[in-house]
Amino acid sequence: MLGGRLPSEDAPGVGQYVSRAIQVAESNAKVAMVDGNWVRILHRVFSDEWMADYRYDPRLQRLAQSMVEGATDSRSLNWAILDMGATICLPRKPLCPQCPIASLCETGSLSQIQRSL
Ligand code: SF4
Repeated sequence: MLGGRLPSEDAPGVGQYVSRAIQVAESNAKVAMVDGNWVRILHRVFSDEWMADYRYDPRLQRLAQSMVEGATDSRSLNWAILDMGATICLPRKPLCPQCPIASLCETGSLSQIQRSL
């Protein structure tokens, strides 16, 4: 807290991720804590172009934000994405057969097709 207020993304020393993480932790705000996990999962699920600097990519930010706004619990969704990126949708070798959203995922569907060949 800065003077009784949550820090904004523009506050010195506070970036977008930290500001949003505090908003989610403090008030379950409907904001996406976009980090590398979010980007990797969105990229794989939607088979989208890789975004070089996701913090400022408006399309990616809109996509992540629309997911959070559609969720009943922003905190749970943000934590789920972080957990999934750390345990299942790993950077080098995603564990698609164990993934709960594999049927929705372009990359997961492709890897299942390749395994069956
Ligand atoms: S199916 Fe595979 S690539 Fe797709 S989100 Fe799950 S772990 Fe990641």
